[in-house]
Amino acid sequence: MECKGEGYTTYLAESFKKSWMGDVETSLLPSTSPFRPHKVLDMDRREFTKLSVFALASTCLPSYAQSASFSQKPVGYAAIGLGRISDIFMRACAQAQTAKITALVTGHPDTKGVKYSALYGIPKTAVYTYETFDRILDNKDIDAVYVGLPNSMHCEYTVRAAQAGKHVLCEKPMAISSAECRQMIDACRQANVKLMIAYRVHYDPTWMQAIEIIQSGKIGQLESFQGSFLGQEQAGEWRLTRKLGGGGALMDLGIYPLNAIRHITGEEPADFTAVVSTREQSGRFNEVEQSMEWTMKFPSGIIASCGCSYGQVGPCSLGINGEKGYLVLEPAFYYDGIHLRGEAGGRPIDQFGTGKVPFQFVLEAEHFADCIRNNKQPESPGEEGLKDMLSIEAIYKAAGAPIA
Ligand code: NAD
Repeated sequence: MECKGEGYTTYLAESFKKSWMGDVETSLLPSTSPFRPHKVLDMDRREFTKLSVFALASTCLPSYAQSASFSQKPVGYAAIGLGRISDIFMRACAQAQTAKITALVTGHPDTKGVKYSALYGIPKTAVYTYETFDRILDNKDIDAVYVGLPNSMHCEYTVRAAQAGKHVLCEKPMAISSAECRQMIDACRQANVKLMIAYRVHYDPTWMQAIEIIQSGKIGQLESFQGSFLGQEQAGEWRLTRKLGGGGALMDLGIYPLNAIRHITGEEPADFTAVVSTREQSGRFNEVEQSMEWTMKFPSGIIASCGCSYGQVGPCSLGINGEKGYLVLEPAFYYDGIHLRGEAGGRPIDQFGTGKVPFQFVLEAEHFADCIRNNKQPESPGEEGLKDMLSIEAIYKAAGAPIA
């Protein structure tokens, strides 16, 4: 098995990799780096064969396209906001069998609109601006929208899309307050359209395998988690503004370990402690926090400690500790190359995901397509985004920096 590296060329790479590693050759990286070629260690033949089967399975992903319902028409998505994440999502739709991009919504119809409509064969009549957005109502080729806008715009465009009768796949964080999340859920319910939040790692096979190991009881009763997502955000980014970002690192990066831990435990955290800190005085963090560390305790007694930052170099990881074993995902939340290691059922585990960008997005787009075509509930519905936002509000409050 080989470590990823070459697929890590998209948003996170562009934003963070330079600050993390510069242009370092992977051969210069420490042997523990997830970007290094990887050797299978301490694993017997049976375990290796089993993990190889998982690895192979992750390249032949369980696509809805492979099911009997593939005869259905692909779900047509309108991408709203043609930035970095939408670029990946559109590439994913081009690879998907049950989803395709059929329309664009952009403030730059003459540049980005022309570029992407040429790439994906979209007619000029299906390129909308934010002003003409509501006309998507009349376009029968649009089943759903993909909201790839700054956080504070998610609510408005979700509500407007629902009012136009379109299903909504909305990026994380769902919005910038729990009140907005509720508004979005209500609007979609009233319009009888589906709402899914784009928590892509829910659809990643390595993550699914970690969850399967936990559910099999091989690490015993869950006891604690340690989550971390640290990086460097560039000055001038909308993410560093309160108006568009809604908050700082917690809203954008801390949400990953938060969501993962909630997802794995199936519980809602009850008690929070938190500290927020902004050391850098360059002006980059005038409006939002630089770093946040927090703890959460769940009703069962499970405890978690997490950190996130827009101004630090550090791991992107999740440690999951049980009474009989443990798992570590590191990197945990990247677009590919998820590395799962640990000890479960008395055996070592050491495995890298083999899918490459944008495969998580293909799975996500196809999952929502399946929900739409076959009237299923999305695995990560709007309610999931609301629950994360309630925790985010509680963490900011515990840190003495309330946002709601
Ligand atoms: P981006 O800056 O690259 O793209 C934002 C898009 O919104 C651009 O096309 C921009 O033109 C448009 N836009 C419209 N009005 C704007 C305004 N007033 N200010 C700034 N841009 C405006 O951002 P991105 O990294 O693609 O992030 C978009 C959303 O996707 C965010 O909510 C972010 O949290 C989420 N995201 C999710 C993931 C993931 O892995 N799921 C990764 C990155 C970003």
